[in-house]
Amino acid sequence: MRTIIKYMILTDTHTHLYSEEFDQDRTEVIQRAIDKGITRMFIPAIDSNYVHKMYDLERQFPENVFLMMGLHPTYVKENYLEELAKVEEAFAQRKFCAVGEIGVDLYWDKSFLKQQQYAFQHQIQLAKKYQLGINIHCRDAFEETFEVLESEKGAELFGIFHCFSGDLEQAKRAISMGMKLGIGGVATFKNGKIDQFLNEIDLQHIVLETDSPYLAPAPFRGKRNESSYIQIVAEKLSEIYQVPVVEIARITTENSKAIFGI
Ligand SMILES: [Zn+2]
Repeated sequence: MRTIIKYMILTDTHTHLYSEEFDQDRTEVIQRAIDKGITRMFIPAIDSNYVHKMYDLERQFPENVFLMMGLHPTYVKENYLEELAKVEEAFAQRKFCAVGEIGVDLYWDKSFLKQQQYAFQHQIQLAKKYQLGINIHCRDAFEETFEVLESEKGAELFGIFHCFSGDLEQAKRAISMGMKLGIGGVATFKNGKIDQFLNEIDLQHIVLETDSPYLAPAPFRGKRNESSYIQIVAEKLSEIYQVPVVEIARITTENSKAIFGI
């Protein structure tokens, strides 16, 4: 019998494993990640359409897959109050590891800004009620996101600023609000910018994520991303911080435990 030595545990704090992109080979994709030591995969919610697929994943991989619940900002549409009610109902029924992904996204559409901010704030309050962290999605909307965070900041506010894409000053501001920075494939991009100042941010504020199937790291940029590629992100951070990759794995996994309680 072959003994597999798992010397390194890596955590993917943001992966959409229920995406249609994985419909043909989902089990293999997840197994590939587990075999590489990515034994902790955290799943952000989008809207109620995907919830059943999320529950299926959890049933299939109860030791490795952990669910968040929330309404994604780009899915805040005319029916957002109904969707928020479903999120609330889900939290009343069972446990989740965080509220997410939630936030403000003005990249695709600006017409629901007020509703997005309302949904964001409402879900932050839900997180506080259940003493959970939040997983923030913010795209082209730093000021609009911080406006809500400012009004909710305090000891009970904590979480992850997913796919952090801001500058050093914005990074410090997010950290001051109790957030860790979710770092993924963008750190490996030539024009990603984040690699240029990341070493000025202490590793205790960093968690790893793929955001798969999106944002695959180089050399897979533009292709489908998957959780096993978190290794590439860890290697990039090892280079940026001049710290062995096993240390990157250990520290970022500890950081993820502090947020998710798992
Ligand atoms: Zn996402």
